Amino acid sequence: MSYFSEIVGQEQIKEYMQNALKTGNVSHAYIINGEKSSGKEFIAKIFAMAMQCEKGEIEPCGECHSCKQALSGNQPDIVRITHEKPNSIGIDDIRTQINSEVSIKPYSSPKKIYIINEGEKITPQGQNALLKTLEEPPEYVVIFILTTNVEALLPTILSRCVVLDMKPVADKTVKEFLMETLHIPDYKADICVAFARGNVGKAKLLATSEEFDNIKEEAITLLKYISDMEIHEIVAAIKKIKDFKLDINDYMDILSIWYRDVLLFKATNDVNHLIFKEEIQYIKKVARKSDYEGLEKIIKALDKAKSRLNANVNFDLVMELLLLTIKEN
Ligand SMILES: [Zn+2]
Repeated sequence: MSYFSEIVGQEQIKEYMQNALKTGNVSHAYIINGEKSSGKEFIAKIFAMAMQCEKGEIEPCGECHSCKQALSGNQPDIVRITHEKPNSIGIDDIRTQINSEVSIKPYSSPKKIYIINEGEKITPQGQNALLKTLEEPPEYVVIFILTTNVEALLPTILSRCVVLDMKPVADKTVKEFLMETLHIPDYKADICVAFARGNVGKAKLLATSEEFDNIKEEAITLLKYISDMEIHEIVAAIKKIKDFKLDINDYMDILSIWYRDVLLFKATNDVNHLIFKEEIQYIKKVARKSDYEGLEKIIKALDKAKSRLNANVNFDLVMELLLLTIKEN
């Protein structure tokens, strides 16, 4: 069993961690910085488990008492910081869960490890409280701050932590993971990889989520028939997107990838590099019907619509304009 090898990509972080374990040169504080779902918690968990493993090697054994406890989330010396308010980690959370008990020695392991997830939510007061521990940590303490935004942390915190940045994982590697480990079929794996943009957790989520399948179905049905649709049918389609509360970012991404495919097919006549290979009959039809200028207009309209939606411009209006541009081109 090799836990570090279960981490997909992130070679630099793995190498850093295993080297720290080998030389015994483990720092008191780490920041793992990376996108939502990119696997920060998974990596911190494996590193923590290895530090506490009774065999004390560079790979957690998975067999000893400590490893078993860590695997079930019950290792008493690996503490996950919780917070009462969903959107902030405040001074009291830090004080009661870290500062007031940090001087108590580890219960049964070499280290006492704290994992703070969503570190970008720690308030400035909370960060200043945390700083007290970071300035003079007991020798057995290791603190992990996991965050999607390292810039939300004070410079005084950053200067006391080793910052490990998650890197986007190569598409090929993500695809292999989806197909070999999760047994996702080729065609579906391609779509998920195109969406995930190097984020393994997101790829996994998309590959296994029913909601994403629904969004994809809705978007593709619309794209197939939009040129023959009447205005009132388009309005009904928009209403459906809203009623289903589909993730509009995913929905828009599907439209973008579809037109990227159309453009690619028009330029190369090659099916192999398309994401929506399975819909080739329809892709062909659109590629024949639309000229380059029209496709470019659609792609521009998509970008514009995305930024308008992010700026909270009226949803119906943005979508109507977009779908009319698609229909006309
Ligand atoms: Zn072990």
